[in-house]
Amino acid sequence: MALHRQPAYTRGLLLAGDAAGTVNPFNGEGISYALETGRMAAETVVDALARPEGLARETALRRYPDRLRAAYGRHHRLGIGFLALLSRPDVVRFATAHGLKRPALVNAALRLMGNLGDGWDGDRTDRAIAALTRLAPAV
Ligand SMILES: Cc1cc2nc3c(=O)[nH]c(=O)nc-3n(C[C@H](O)[C@H](O)[C@H](O)COP(=O)(O)OP(=O)(O)OC[C@H]3O[C@@H](n4cnc5c(N)ncnc54)[C@H](O)[C@@H]3O)c2cc1C
Repeated sequence: MALHRQPAYTRGLLLAGDAAGTVNPFNGEGISYALETGRMAAETVVDALARPEGLARETALRRYPDRLRAAYGRHHRLGIGFLALLSRPDVVRFATAHGLKRPALVNAALRLMGNLGDGWDGDRTDRAIAALTRLAPAV
């Protein structure tokens, strides 16, 4: 399930992990996302409970989906595009014939797919991935 199909917060209900659709579309990994979003949900609830009941609390809770989107939205959007490409045999044939021969490309692809880059603080490959990710609209 992708982030956009399931609201991570509707009044009174915060979703984390698979229920919030945070599985990495590139590779199906969801354990780290479940842990991370569980922590984000808990932090959001702590923040909300520190505010007076009513609009202020509700506003704090409503920030949770934006937080998920900021953390994963662009990366997961790229992953959805990647899945669309995987459904095209011509693209897969081309990528396996030409891409697999290039270790640097394979390394970059694995970092992108696993969401393992260090972003703008990383090396050249990480920065290229960060730039590519920035171009994608968030899911
Ligand atoms: C075959 C397979 C292999 C996978 N391999 C990997 C992998 O190698 N690496 C990786 O990162 N991810 C992997 N995943 C994905 C990963 O397992 C999930 O993304 C992750 O477990 C999601 O955690 P979660 O806490 O959101 O949900 P879950 O782990 O599904 O936990 C939800 C829990 O809620 C319980 N529950 C459901 N309904 C109720 C209810 N009404 N009342 C009380 N309890 C309820 C369920 O029994 C379950 O224990 C794999 C998934 C599958 C199916």
